[in-house]
Amino acid sequence: MTIADRLKTLKETIPEEVTLVAVSKTKPASDIMEAYQTGHRDFGENRVQELQEKQGILPKDIRWHMIGHLQRNKVKYIIDFVHLIHGVDSARLLREIDKRAAASGRVVDCLLQVHIAEEETKFGFDEEELEQLFAGEPVKSFPNVRLRGLMGMATFTDDRVKVQREFRRLKSLYDTWASQMPEADTLSMGMSGDYDIAIPEGSNMIRVGSRIFGSRH
Ligand SMILES: *Cc1c(COP(=O)(O)O)cnc(C)c1O
Repeated sequence: MTIADRLKTLKETIPEEVTLVAVSKTKPASDIMEAYQTGHRDFGENRVQELQEKQGILPKDIRWHMIGHLQRNKVKYIIDFVHLIHGVDSARLLREIDKRAAASGRVVDCLLQVHIAEEETKFGFDEEELEQLFAGEPVKSFPNVRLRGLMGMATFTDDRVKVQREFRRLKSLYDTWASQMPEADTLSMGMSGDYDIAIPEGSNMIRVGSRIFGSRH
């Protein structure tokens, strides 16, 4: 199957209200163009440099999602064009995004990344840190950041019950904290291997790479 076929098949199986972010990391611009030609506009990258390079050569109406870990000193490279930053995992990063967004005259949409997996290596707030964030400096004090919701990654495992439990927990955190984020409407969870679990658990944004573009090496 071609990229266009796989994208079409995938879109037919997900509800209309779920946004599909096509994760194009490591894939060439020609692959992105193949998806673009079908009318798809939301693409996700996890490295600043790669994102910057692709944005420079690809059509300007692409909505670029930064889905990876973002270092504070690299915010400036993507702030002018990024559509949604999924991986905000500290108040310091939030402050930097706010500062850079103000300088570029934008209000930038962001998701707070929450650590729900058992792996130690994944980034994100834990439950306590989320509480501290909302107890501390009010989100309102970042006028150039618009918090749209939460993002998370489940443990990489065949145990689908465990994955489901982790997504359920993220949804429950979303329900708890959405009231602190007046513009919250997005719960980003689910990838190639587990989006079918994430959607029934309340995801309305999935980030799918290999199922569309083929495996990465
Ligand atoms: C790579 C990546 C994805 C997509 O992974 P696939 O398994 O290829 O669908 C989704 N989210 C994040 C944060 C990623 O880094």
